[in-house]
Amino acid sequence: MGCGKNGEVKQQVGFRCEKCWFKKIAYTTTKSIKNWEAIRDLYKRQKGLCAYTGIKLVLGENTNLDHITPVKKGGTHKINNLQWVDGKVNWMKYDSKEAEFLKTIKLILKRKGYCMKKKTGGREINAYHNL
Ligand SMILES: [Zn+2]
Repeated sequence: MGCGKNGEVKQQVGFRCEKCWFKKIAYTTTKSIKNWEAIRDLYKRQKGLCAYTGIKLVLGENTNLDHITPVKKGGTHKINNLQWVDGKVNWMKYDSKEAEFLKTIKLILKRKGYCMKKKTGGREINAYHNL
C-alpha cells in the first residue's frame, strides 16, 4: 500500500500496514481516526491479550475493539471506555455493559452447575470451582 515512506519496514495486517489497520479500526469503532495512536497503545498496554479471557489477540484475526459501556447505553468513544477483546467474547458481550456481561456469565455458570467463589482480595470473579 502506498501509505508509508519508501523503504520503511512496516508490519502488515492483511493487505494493510499496521498503522492503516489501527486507523481503520479507530474509524469504524469510534467514528474518527484521531485516537488511532491511543488505540494502538492500548493494545500494547494490554500486551496483545483479551481484556476478559487473556487469550492472545492476533491483529486482523480475532481482535475486537470493545466499548466497555456501549455507546447506546451512554458510553463514549474515549480511550478509557475502550478495550481490546477476543471477537467471540465481544459477540457474547454484544450491547451489554461490563456489569451486565459479567452477570450473564455468572448465570450461565450457575445454571451449568459451577460454583463461583471470589478470591479474597481478588479484583474480579477469580475462581470457578469445578472448572
Ligand atoms: Zn498503510
